[in-house]
Amino acid sequence: MAAFFSKFDLHTHSNASDGALSPTQLVQRAYKKGITHLALTDHDCVDGINEAKEAAKGLLTLIEGAELSALFNNEQIHIVGLFLDTQAPALKEYLKNQKIKRIERAVAIGEKLERQGFKNAYEECKKRAAPGASITRGNYARYIVEMGRAQSADEAFSVYLKNGKSCYVKTSWPDVSVAVKAILDSNGVPVLAHPRRYQMTNTKLRELIEYFKLCGGIAMEVGSSQMSPSDRDFIAKLCEKYSLLASLGSDFHVEGAYRELGYNLIIPDFVKKVWEHPLAKPYNFPKENS
Ligand code: AMP
Ligand code: MN
Ligand code: MN
Ligand code: MN
Repeated sequence: MAAFFSKFDLHTHSNASDGALSPTQLVQRAYKKGITHLALTDHDCVDGINEAKEAAKGLLTLIEGAELSALFNNEQIHIVGLFLDTQAPALKEYLKNQKIKRIERAVAIGEKLERQGFKNAYEECKKRAAPGASITRGNYARYIVEMGRAQSADEAFSVYLKNGKSCYVKTSWPDVSVAVKAILDSNGVPVLAHPRRYQMTNTKLRELIEYFKLCGGIAMEVGSSQMSPSDRDFIAKLCEKYSLLASLGSDFHVEGAYRELGYNLIIPDFVKKVWEHPLAKPYNFPKENS
């Protein structure tokens, strides 16, 4: 099939967390790719939203979002919040706690990297992101590649950052129920992010989806840049089975990677779309997405 570019992209990152582009650069790139509706969903952080909104004026519709880290059975899960009220006390409280955890974790990862011969790893990593950015393992992976200690971010994960490797630091993110509630209490729509990317059996994935739904979850990502048609069909059917709405997003972080803005984001016709939710109404999504 020829490359397909969606006009909507509801999962992207800026340098307010582990994206390489500033919010302004991200919006400009999205506009050039023909995107009309873009959600900025930085990790546990909404600091880039104001700049993105300003940059979006006259170019595209910017949707306020965030990607919250949470736990399900000790497994790290990402819940995207869309159409958020970024001033809501519930969101502010969640992000405030996450910020403390993320700084502690990033410092601990930095110390472990120093033992592997990296110099000033935490400070060096912070310098490469926006001031006060939410530092993730993604920031560290790019730094490790830049230092010539891995060929790719993926290799940086396999060698240093993933569970069981020398620089891994376990973190007690809040339960999925807490993340979902924070989003609902902030007038947002909770979306289970990239369901195919967790290292889970299909049985465990169904349990996660059932739990997410029980907690008040509303949508799930069906359109993801690197999804195979058979995986997409599988997830779309689960969406339908659990009466979840379907979302789509590239999870764009950096130019030149396969997760390009708008790329290959497809949702089968038989599932209802997240932009049909009443909270999406103010954003005036057009009926057609092609
Ligand atoms: P954290 O939330 O700090 O655990 O970092 C998660 C982020 O690391 C993800 O959002 C990705 O951007 C990045 N990441 C996770 N796994 C990989 C991988 N295998 N290769 C490259 N980046 C990854
Ligand atoms: Mn990331
Ligand atoms: Mn994620
Ligand atoms: Mn993401």
